[in-house]
Amino acid sequence: MSDATFLTDFHHVAGIGATANSGVERQAATEADKATRDWFAAFARERNWEVRVDGIGNMFALIELVPGAPYILLGSHLDSQPLGGRFDGAYGVLAGLHAAERVAKRLHSTGTTPVFNLAVVNWFNEEGGRFAPSIMGSSVFAGLMDQEKMLAVKDLAGTTVAEALEAIGYLGTDQRPDLAGYAEIHIEQGRILEREGITLGAVDYSWHTQKLDIEVLGEQSHTGATAMADRHDALVAASKVVLLVHDVTKKFAEEALVSSVGQLTLEPNSPIVVARRVHLVADLRSASPEIVAEARASLLADIAQIAKDHDIRINVNDFDVRGIQYYPEAGLELTEKVAANLGLSVRRIRTMAGHDSVAMNRIVPTVMMFIPSVDGVSHCEREFTTDTDIVAGVKALESVAWEMVNGALAPIDSTEQELSKAGAA
Ligand SMILES: [Zn+2]
Repeated sequence: MSDATFLTDFHHVAGIGATANSGVERQAATEADKATRDWFAAFARERNWEVRVDGIGNMFALIELVPGAPYILLGSHLDSQPLGGRFDGAYGVLAGLHAAERVAKRLHSTGTTPVFNLAVVNWFNEEGGRFAPSIMGSSVFAGLMDQEKMLAVKDLAGTTVAEALEAIGYLGTDQRPDLAGYAEIHIEQGRILEREGITLGAVDYSWHTQKLDIEVLGEQSHTGATAMADRHDALVAASKVVLLVHDVTKKFAEEALVSSVGQLTLEPNSPIVVARRVHLVADLRSASPEIVAEARASLLADIAQIAKDHDIRINVNDFDVRGIQYYPEAGLELTEKVAANLGLSVRRIRTMAGHDSVAMNRIVPTVMMFIPSVDGVSHCEREFTTDTDIVAGVKALESVAWEMVNGALAPIDSTEQELSKAGAA
């Protein structure tokens, strides 16, 4: 597989669900998502790789090299945000498919028998734009979320995950592969690599994140006929909450905490009705769990005051709390070694965004790599990474996959662990 073939495939997939301004709109389990899934399955079947779909819509392309051995899994997600970018997620899946093919060919041509099998994944609903929470498919796979509960999650139109997957033909029943490791490559979505002119990021840890589910309950009434003093306007109170969630970051050092309300739904959303209910989700992230806790406490107190001032009820619930996760040191060293061999510049970098690899890192040795994002923007149509960088990233992933199928980062055998424990005692 040449770099040109990779670029052709990448730019082809970027055309699925393409928007007018070079972005993509491929929310989870929509027709556009189905089209990329069909493309993924066709890529695998053309190469005689086995395709499996599990009970939460995750897709696996399996290359069996050593009968019965567990798999090293490469991949990311093909779904996008509404009016999202064409690199976020899709790049990692395409890089995974091409890296896997290169590794399989190299094993074949050198007559090498690896330690593990190799597979590529397209995780279901990493983005969480249509169905919350995000990182759904990989979290179910890792046992961090309950499959039945996630299948019952509804979008704003009332369609469940199960119904949406069924409708596009991707609610599977196949057995999940046994894994020995996971590797993912993704765009940085920030500007550290670009600013420093570095090609590869070895991701060392993920930020502490937490969401707040906020429900503001007012009273529905006529926007013309109700006296101002008699209104219990849920939207006015919710607007103050939105500003609080933004302003709370100013209590801490610059960029120590990031925070936004990204979703707001309004009922009944009629131009001549005072809003009775507003539902919003705030997203708080920091490298410090203490800062998130302090910001949360300050928000809860200020929100209670708004409720009092407006004579309105506001319910706040914690949701989707994720602690700091460290990636294994051996994986960081592997990325650094691979970069050195390929002549690519590399640095260690944290991720502020969540990724499927954060879930996978809980269950298997995991390597996460970044390539630069032009202007550091993501979750928008103008997201961009150069062809030079995406091609370099595929080479890095190929080398990491090569080392991993040949036993680098292999999980320590539990019996060996028992023996060494016994020896130490
Ligand atoms: Zn992503």
